[in-house]
Amino acid sequence: MTLFDLTGRRALITGSSQGIGFALARALGGAGASVVLNGRDAGKLEAAASVLRTEGMTVEIAAFDVTDYAAVAAAIRELGQLDILVNNAGIQRRAPLEDFPEATWHELMRTNLDSVFYVAQAVARGMIARKRGKIINICSVQSELGRPGIAPYAASKGAVKMLTKGMCADWAKHGLQVNGIGPGYFETELTAVLVADPAFSDWLCKRTPAGRWGRVEELAGAAIFLASGASDFVNGQIIYVDGGLTSVV
Ligand code: NAP
Repeated sequence: MTLFDLTGRRALITGSSQGIGFALARALGGAGASVVLNGRDAGKLEAAASVLRTEGMTVEIAAFDVTDYAAVAAAIRELGQLDILVNNAGIQRRAPLEDFPEATWHELMRTNLDSVFYVAQAVARGMIARKRGKIINICSVQSELGRPGIAPYAASKGAVKMLTKGMCADWAKHGLQVNGIGPGYFETELTAVLVADPAFSDWLCKRTPAGRWGRVEELAGAAIFLASGASDFVNGQIIYVDGGLTSVV
């Protein structure tokens, strides 16, 4: 198990006050890393941190908006050394493309795509200087597949997939590994409207070879793998954790 041991590593997980980010923080913390939780709401972050602390983990919080370039730069400067970065913060906005408001398009792109560039660039500079680091970008099955009503989201997640490959192209030679995780459909606040819709759930369970929704703790294995020495020659890859959805029509 030493291959997967994260003892002595410090990990920042963006958007980790709830949902997938919180589950990923819990996974990395459980493997021995000290974790830094991020989101915009300091109260939510404190509550999330105290849950993980009661589980014996070392937890800090860093409240900042990942869409604010200057705030990101200041926060990363203040945090100091980070060995692992998980770019997870993201939002969903649903509307037919012909009615999709311009402002919402930019809000979505800023949150899902610009933030990945902002945070990764700021963190990678320190990693490059130390010649090692792990970056995990949270993609989606929508990095590969379109779906009605969420074209801008799919465009943002397709771009995060290619940004992951671009980061590998520029940073692998400096000792960094940059990979992505593409979750299928998991029950979180982001998907609450879909979970509450029996017709959607029925469609999803038929469409997914595993026949069910994912549970956020099922993302832990891929995250620990990509954050640990076990993946030291894995670079520019996206691991889909989706019950088989992207492999089968
Ligand atoms: P969620 O439950 O809505 O959580 C989103 C997290 O991001 C919250 O902690 C939120 O905290 C934070 N956040 C949002 N905007 C932020 C900003 N501007 N700056 C800093 N933090 C921000 O969503 P989720 O379902 O866990 O999704 C997490 C990631 O997984 C997203 O990238 C999403 O696209 C991706 N994903 C999810 C699914 C799924 O089925 N759920 C599937 C594929 C991919 P605050 O609002 O307090 O800032």
